[in-house]
Amino acid sequence: MILSDPLANYFRLTPRQTVTLVRLGIATVRDLLFYFPARYEEFVGEKTIAELKAGERATVECEVEEIGVQKTWKRKISIAEAVVKDGSGFLRATWFNQPYIAKMLKQGDRVRLSGKVGNGKRGIYFANPAYELSIQKKSALPYQEESETLLPVYPESYGISSRWLRARIKKVFEVVSLVEESLPESILSRYHLPKIRQALRAVHFPKTKGEAEAARKRFAFEEIFIIQLARRRDRKARETAPAFSFKPGPELINEFAKSLPYELTGAQKRALNDILGDLEKLHPMTRLLQGDVGSGKTVVAAAAALAAVKAGLQVAFMAPTEILARQHFEELRRRFGSFRVPIGFLTSSGSEKFPSKINPQHSARISKNQLLRWVASGEIKVLVGTHSLIEERVKFKKLGLAVVDEQHRFGTKQRHRALKKSLAGATPHYLSMSATPIPRTLALTLYGDLDVSVIDEMPPGRQPVQTKIVLPHGREGVYNFIRSELENGSQAFVICPRIEERNAANYKSRWQSHRGSSIKSGPPRYQSEARYGAQQAASYQQRLDWSDVKSVKKEHKKLSGEIFPEFKIGMVHGRLTPKEKETMMREFRDGKLQMLVSTSVVEVGVDIPNASIMLIEGGERFGLATLHQFRGRVGRRGQKAFCFVFTTNGEAATLRRLKALESSKSGFELAEYDLQFRGPGELAGSKQWGVSDVGMEALKNMKMVEAARKEAEQIVAEDPDFKNHPSLKERVDKIGALHFE
Ligand code: ADP
Ligand code: MG
Repeated sequence: MILSDPLANYFRLTPRQTVTLVRLGIATVRDLLFYFPARYEEFVGEKTIAELKAGERATVECEVEEIGVQKTWKRKISIAEAVVKDGSGFLRATWFNQPYIAKMLKQGDRVRLSGKVGNGKRGIYFANPAYELSIQKKSALPYQEESETLLPVYPESYGISSRWLRARIKKVFEVVSLVEESLPESILSRYHLPKIRQALRAVHFPKTKGEAEAARKRFAFEEIFIIQLARRRDRKARETAPAFSFKPGPELINEFAKSLPYELTGAQKRALNDILGDLEKLHPMTRLLQGDVGSGKTVVAAAAALAAVKAGLQVAFMAPTEILARQHFEELRRRFGSFRVPIGFLTSSGSEKFPSKINPQHSARISKNQLLRWVASGEIKVLVGTHSLIEERVKFKKLGLAVVDEQHRFGTKQRHRALKKSLAGATPHYLSMSATPIPRTLALTLYGDLDVSVIDEMPPGRQPVQTKIVLPHGREGVYNFIRSELENGSQAFVICPRIEERNAANYKSRWQSHRGSSIKSGPPRYQSEARYGAQQAASYQQRLDWSDVKSVKKEHKKLSGEIFPEFKIGMVHGRLTPKEKETMMREFRDGKLQMLVSTSVVEVGVDIPNASIMLIEGGERFGLATLHQFRGRVGRRGQKAFCFVFTTNGEAATLRRLKALESSKSGFELAEYDLQFRGPGELAGSKQWGVSDVGMEALKNMKMVEAARKEAEQIVAEDPDFKNHPSLKERVDKIGALHFE
């Protein structure tokens, strides 16, 4: 047996299991070894029902006597309730907001429940216990030694249970002797990290909790360390690459500032100075401009773009969606009004040029070929658009600066190409903008090689968006409030969450690992890429998009048909063509629609100055930082604005988390909250950062992140090509393609 052997060589897999394994990123024996548990179930004190005492944690082996779902009368929260029995007596078990449990468990099922024993009016009971279906009493844990009390629980999916995984991992585990250590000995000993083989054993078959934790710590450190090494190496390479160096005269920037209808904030000026300082250097800038939605990043980028244009260079301005790209195009037209800068606009649905020959106040549609010719000849100075900009066909004469908005929303390949797009031997300066607040440890790791400017100040006159968490019984009151606001001329957004694919196995996995991460947490690291084609991912994505559409349509129907028949309500979702989306957004912006129902993926930065109400359905499904971004879309004219976060989940922990929104105004603060309280695997957007669940654990630990950073710096400084660390080199090369640039 070798590590790269396909699993199918050893196990008979059903077609469904094959598909699921692909989705989980498990193809080889090695992948299986590196598929880590989400958490461990501690089977402390197995007892009979008669022995249970209130307040203790315990496990019972029992049989389902009856099971059903109820709704609480007042808060409309659903509760699954079961009565279970063993030879010694009967016991109640309840689960809040997990009605699917009543579908998962049937009368007569043998289950193992584990949790804390509560004491209520009707005697003792289990509240939200963890469960495992057991086949028969004694074979409940066939792969567990007598002495083992920790049971690994893996992220599961359709057809692939924890039980299945435990058995298979045990079967192939001897192959662990072939896994090579890639961390240097000195690092292992400095931070007391277990060696790779020992760590793999401890992560899958821990004898104690401490041992499992030490192993996870090692893998967490390792992942963060490898990312940092890749970042450091990239930075080193860029520090030697040539770039166009230029410095605008102070008049130009002054003139630009004077042409604005407002004064730049102090934070904007500081950011602009950082950028102008970079542009003078002989090596390419790689700077991240970070600031909340509405903090005014665009105008800063516009000033830098103007400086480049006046130095005889071209600028590419790329946004993740057509709507955002158009918004930038229009903003740049306004900002460059008196500077006579020809601007091109390129998306998959058309090309335009500003100014139009016939009507210099407007832009004109032109053919793509014509536009590309003008870009190649240097006549177009600034090219704004979507990822169409990085197509092979787009050739600049002298690209000096690339600006990318919300870069993490582009695929890695696209980011790569955007940065590489060089001509005349020089690499363009690179400015990326982001309104996505992320925790500091994540920023240090992912942006370890970038210079960062933060716009931490809002344009004057903005009031914080008044935010309220709303339980089902408050819905009607909110609707009434919205009605009166709309009657007074306001406009409202309604965001519907992405509904994950729902099937029985999903329910099961969510519930079996309801305290840890679950299937939602995406594929693990170490997957062997090639075979999991984009195709798989794409079709999965399509299914998700489709369920989005359904929820948006349903909500739209309800709102326009029953609740607000007197208003015009539009909807936007992923199944509309860019043109349809655009039309809908324009109608909303022009006030022809009073309300817009949309998916959560819609255009973070879209500017609808008149909108003052943000209503979010299923708030518990979002990270706080994401919710914060949503509310940043309203009140952009400085008017009083409101955000209502609806949730059906009345659990105290959920409410406490959401309530942080009511009091906190900073996106970064909320991102830290997300990291600490939501569980690392569920950090908003963790998937898009390409960090695994285990890696995310490291991000809770600033000391660990700093240590990894220090070690990475040192290695790259001493041995930039990893000549003395061939196994590290292999890992870094692999990850280099997965992360930024
Ligand atoms: P974001 O950082 O989200 O991209 P934008 O660049 O879209 O923000 O700016 C949001 C709005 O604020 C725009 O309408 C812009 O014209 C305006 N704005 C930007 N800077 C200032 C400022 N210093 N004072 C007043 N308004 C500003
Ligand atoms: Mg923006």
